[in-house]
Amino acid sequence: MKLTRTHTLGFPRMGAYRELKFALEKHWRGEIDEAALTQTGTDLRKAHWQAQRDAGLAVVTVGDFAFYDHVANHIQMLGCEPTRFGFDGHASELSRYFSMARGVTDDVKIDVAGDAKGGVTGEANHAETCAHHTHGFALEMTKWFDTNYHYLVPEFTAATAFKLASNRLFDEVAEAQALGHPVKAVLLGPLSFLFLGKEKEAGLERLSLLDGLLPVYEQILSRLKEQGVDWVQIEEPILGLDLPADWRNVFERSYWQLARSAPKILLATYFSPLEDNLRLACQLPVAGLHVDAVRAPHDLTSVADWLPAHKVLSVGIVDGRNIWRTDVDAALACLQPVANKHQGELWLAPSCSLLHVPFSLQAEQILDAETKSWMAFAIEKLGELRVLSAALGGDAASVAAELTAARSAIAARRVSKRVHRVDVALRIARATSSDDHRQSSFAQRQRLQRARFALPALPTTTIGSFPQTPSIRAARAAFKRGTLAEADYRQKMEEEITLAVREQEALDLDVLVHGEAERNDMVEYFGEQLDGFAFTQNGWVQSYGSRCVKPPVIFGDVARPKAMTVSWTTFAQSLTTKPVKGMLTGPVTILQWSFVRDDQPRSVTTEQIAWAIRDEVVDLEHAGIGIVQIDEPAIREGLPLRRAGWKPYLLQATRAFRITASGVADDTQIHTHMCYSEFNDILPDIASMDADVITIETSRSDMELLRGFGDFQYPNEIGPGVYDIHSPRVPTQDEIIRLMRKAVSVVPRDNLWINPDCGLKTRGWPETRAALASMVGAAKVLREELAAG
Ligand code: GLN
Ligand code: ZN
Repeated sequence: MKLTRTHTLGFPRMGAYRELKFALEKHWRGEIDEAALTQTGTDLRKAHWQAQRDAGLAVVTVGDFAFYDHVANHIQMLGCEPTRFGFDGHASELSRYFSMARGVTDDVKIDVAGDAKGGVTGEANHAETCAHHTHGFALEMTKWFDTNYHYLVPEFTAATAFKLASNRLFDEVAEAQALGHPVKAVLLGPLSFLFLGKEKEAGLERLSLLDGLLPVYEQILSRLKEQGVDWVQIEEPILGLDLPADWRNVFERSYWQLARSAPKILLATYFSPLEDNLRLACQLPVAGLHVDAVRAPHDLTSVADWLPAHKVLSVGIVDGRNIWRTDVDAALACLQPVANKHQGELWLAPSCSLLHVPFSLQAEQILDAETKSWMAFAIEKLGELRVLSAALGGDAASVAAELTAARSAIAARRVSKRVHRVDVALRIARATSSDDHRQSSFAQRQRLQRARFALPALPTTTIGSFPQTPSIRAARAAFKRGTLAEADYRQKMEEEITLAVREQEALDLDVLVHGEAERNDMVEYFGEQLDGFAFTQNGWVQSYGSRCVKPPVIFGDVARPKAMTVSWTTFAQSLTTKPVKGMLTGPVTILQWSFVRDDQPRSVTTEQIAWAIRDEVVDLEHAGIGIVQIDEPAIREGLPLRRAGWKPYLLQATRAFRITASGVADDTQIHTHMCYSEFNDILPDIASMDADVITIETSRSDMELLRGFGDFQYPNEIGPGVYDIHSPRVPTQDEIIRLMRKAVSVVPRDNLWINPDCGLKTRGWPETRAALASMVGAAKVLREELAAG
């Protein structure tokens, strides 16, 4: 029997109870020093390596730990900290690291820490931010492929030079060795590192920096070899992208160069099919290849065909992106033919780093036993590897009990009445082709809506949330703890709504909102009221730095037992004669920010959510609410990594939105909101959502992003954001007038609204009041100008 070994690409860093988060935040507040923080890191690594050994893994993985982000670790190791920070040789490595991650001045990360976009359970999320690049500003953050993890973006200029500048990795290797562990070190590959960075200088092509970078990798690899490290996992996830030819072409020579000095290299890919890069990946001069058999099962067969027998094939068979227990029989059925075909060593692993799943189910005390038995977090996934490897190696007897438990959990989940509901299935089966579009064309609806609402030119509105003051948070928390009675809670929230409505009337806004005081989070709030969702106590996943999110778990068919928002919205409407806009989260966003069931296509789950939210839209309409906003900030981030997957995804995502929006009469106005407008490449699809009004984020790009809508002749109404809500800075009226003049030159003025970039929940009232006053003032000036021709 060929050797079957188990390993993991990486492990969650935060600790079982987010120890790292709390230590980091204490350190940043000045409560603990570097030594104490470093000790927390040491303790966590030690515990995490021990967990890997306890699960029988052949090696422990070293180099996956980071105090903020593993890409930032590489920036330091490779000696390319941007010079704009002006580090003068006095600051410690760790303090420079946090300066790059968080900025040098205190207020720098205000836009991130207070980010209103998404974010589950009060923790911010989705922090594409900090477009500013003056000195001292934090490095830009962006999403790590299609995950909710954000990495710090390396910055390159023509002057960027690389040198081996940190011993962190080598120290951690020594640390693991001292504990007696066999070590596999991990590095982000040179090509992915360059690819994920950004040029900060016109005319520079970062690929040209490769020749300066490779010698540093060589140095790192020979140091690791000297340390006695047998295997180095080098990750090149960009092999799962539609790579430009010049990037593809340099792989071979780069890896020949690295092979000279390296220990055995396991080249790791994940998240996306290799496809056109498959032969390249199989033929590179490395000792092994890891493929993601969860995201790209079809790659596996071809890799088994192409990979030379002397190479190790590492199969990512356990889902590193989701929290479900592995279907052992399906996994074995997938592995067996590969084991038969591939003549070399076979290793088993999670599909990608376990960074993207929570730590362990052991901390879940409230989750019902049945749902819990269907799940596996990081620790449990390591256990699954042990079971699979024994069973595949012909030693099923030694794991008989585990196999039985796994099989019965999977069998129970497959037939559970909590998962599969006839009413939900029937609802979808009965859908007709008229369910996913409005009754009349936009032109017709626009006429009716104009007649109904009689809004002024350039109507003003907001994106939904108003400041979530400490007293609002306290009331919600007390209600949740059970120390605030329902009636008292209701009264408190109604007071907050009243306040928000009074403020908006005083500001003379045209379309009002209730302010979302009762919402902890735009996804969790709905998940808690829908059937088919479960919530964990401790299912935290790192989003960026010390920030974690706790995504809801969609385990079953989704249905809405009763109205979710109607009473709050109608209460707000009862206070004013101006229209109050109802506020809902759309199906794609709810899906995107949750752990999604893996036993049916995501498109089916999206559609179930769409029907549930549609019922809410219709109920709002029946309750007299004439305008409803369905937020879809996550539509773009759901795009598959490979372009070939875009169209099918967009077709189902936009259809789901239209199902949600199309149950109402023509004179009910549907808004949608997205937190960006960099979607020039998908504008036809955005248009196909057919929302009557779309509000987008455009102020930080100085309205440049609106241009795409103009060029495309976007047919419906648009509210381009006129000020950045990520900052407490109050925009002046003139600034907003200037931006709106620009907007008017780009899209027809009859179709324009005026609103902020996004929701205001992270802001305080004083700046909110002042900013909205500028905004309404600007609208009035512009209206007079328009009236005067
Ligand atoms: N309605 C939400 C709010 O105003 C929208 C948030 C978002 O776009 N992510 O907070
Ligand atoms: Zn937004």
